[in-house]
Amino acid sequence: MKIQKFGGTSVGSAARMKDVAKLVLDGEVKIVVLSAMSGTTNSLVEISNYLYKKNADGANEVISKLEAKYTQHIDELYSTQEYKDRGMELIRERFNYIKSFTNNVFTVFHEKEILSQGELISTGMFNLYLLECGVKSCLLPALDYMRIDKNNEPDTAYIRENLRALLEKNSGYEIYITQGYICRNSFGEVDNLQRGGSDYTASLIGAALLADEIQIWTDIDGMHNNDPRFVEGTKPVSELSFDEAAELAYFGAKILHPTCVLPAKVNNIPVRLLNTMDPKAPGTLISGHQCTNRVAAIAAKDNITALRIKSSRMLLAYGFMRKVFEIFESYKTPIDMITTSEVGVSVTIDNDRHLYDIIDDLKKYGTVEVDKDQCIICIAGDFAADKKGYAGKIFDALADVPVRMISYGGSSHNVSVLINASDKVTALRGLSAHLFN
Ligand code: ADP
Ligand code: ASP
Ligand code: MG
Repeated sequence: MKIQKFGGTSVGSAARMKDVAKLVLDGEVKIVVLSAMSGTTNSLVEISNYLYKKNADGANEVISKLEAKYTQHIDELYSTQEYKDRGMELIRERFNYIKSFTNNVFTVFHEKEILSQGELISTGMFNLYLLECGVKSCLLPALDYMRIDKNNEPDTAYIRENLRALLEKNSGYEIYITQGYICRNSFGEVDNLQRGGSDYTASLIGAALLADEIQIWTDIDGMHNNDPRFVEGTKPVSELSFDEAAELAYFGAKILHPTCVLPAKVNNIPVRLLNTMDPKAPGTLISGHQCTNRVAAIAAKDNITALRIKSSRMLLAYGFMRKVFEIFESYKTPIDMITTSEVGVSVTIDNDRHLYDIIDDLKKYGTVEVDKDQCIICIAGDFAADKKGYAGKIFDALADVPVRMISYGGSSHNVSVLINASDKVTALRGLSAHLFN
């Protein structure tokens, strides 16, 4: 079985939803994962922000605009009065639910309920459309099988067991539609897999069912060799290994959610990135196969903070690194990059929620310097130790950019450099010019 995930732009209007219906109806039984229609989750975040500030008028204004948009979508999507009525009933029910939060105390639990409405609406609308077209379509509620544990990690055993049971109970359909992004947490409350998490839903489903392939359909023809939002003339990469794709997704290639490669890699399920607007384009195939001796692609991760801990006592000392790492561990703050010298160690983090506590604790072991507004540039490819020339080309490309840290050799698939955020675009363009032209 194949899993096909369609992102926000792919289902962003009635016309797009009709195109997606044509794409999924190829005679094969499959699971279709949908995001919210584009812009919806952002509006739901905006509504929640107003409600945290007890600004019901602000929230109601955004709600009304969003509801008006959906009323129009319903009118355009269905051709029969029966389905227009059923569509409007769905919208009214969901929006009444959203409005029910505007007069009460507002907490993070309520926010998560609101954020889940986008995917509940898009899947409900799409399922009704397929039913109107006479397709045997079945809605699989993600809240009945998708679950994270107390560490916010997917509860894979629970997902596998409950999803399989749900499919068995609903056998005989042509298409199964389900919500991306939304899930329950270990308390059974509505939660989510973080922004962009519908990709993760698709790969968790693929892993649970040992699918033949996981397809991520989006608004571009695969993973490009550099970030198309900042660099002109980028090209799709036809093949990536799981490791290359994971590095790129983690280090900022927005086309893939950072964690979505792992479940596919563990179960050796190929992931294909495809373009809803150009379905015939080959896209990108992510698999266990590693193309050798090439730079695959470049990505950039923003909002990085660098910390340098200097200690004269590090000289010839053992145990220093452990003490430093334990401090980050105690604040559940992952380290992205690390470089060392005889007198100090530099690390980067992207979550600075506990930054000041971390600095206080680190000061026991030396002086601490902090640089905010940094950016990690990740160059992914095959850089096995016996391949010559890549480091030289990378440094040539960055000749005009001050480089704060370099990490090479941690894996043979990644070179990372840390620079000021203000130099990001220059660095990305320079790297494309030197590595691909
Ligand atoms: P979806 O809503 O379908 O999940 P996203 O907006 O999350 O789509 O991801 C697709 C977008 O990712 C593209 O439109 C593109 O702007 C951006 N992007 C960033 N880096 C890359 C890259 N290396 N290759 C392709 N797209 C990228
Ligand atoms: N709708 C969610 C978001 O906008 C999840 C997703 O699109 O993947 O973040
Ligand atoms: Mg996305």
